[in-house]
Amino acid sequence: MKIAKDAVVSFEYTLTDPEGEVLDSSEDGPMVYLHGHDQIVKGLEKELTGKQAGDALKVTVSPEEGYGEVGGGAPMNVPLSELPPDLEPEEGMGLNAVGKNGEEVTLWIREVKKDSVMLSLDHPLAGVTLHFDVKIKDVRKATKDELHHGHAHGPDGHHHH
Ligand code: ZN
Repeated sequence: MKIAKDAVVSFEYTLTDPEGEVLDSSEDGPMVYLHGHDQIVKGLEKELTGKQAGDALKVTVSPEEGYGEVGGGAPMNVPLSELPPDLEPEEGMGLNAVGKNGEEVTLWIREVKKDSVMLSLDHPLAGVTLHFDVKIKDVRKATKDELHHGHAHGPDGHHHH
């Protein structure tokens, strides 16, 4: 079947920046997502529409359709004591928070220091043009559960991260 809304897609990928440096890849196993539910960057999802298992493609995604433009202002230094006690902060981790107008925002950990972390509203890949090298492994219909939850489930059933 072809990739369309509510398809569960697994694909292998390598993500590089414009200089060719590898930023991320599916070396630990294919990425599995539910198509049409904002689970992967917009620009990549758009290009995958209509493709099928076995297809390979290269996709260039602008910051606008990727992780956004840089514009969140200077990173904030936040003491570890203000973070949830069970959190083990890691560089690149996203934290959900509530913004000034009550909207949900994600704060990205840009740096972990001894007693504090640097948090930014900008995703670590904000402002970066993304180059995806993609190989589609499998396309299938979503199950009722997956549609109900709005995400894909792994081969062994229900896993939430
Ligand atoms: Zn679920």
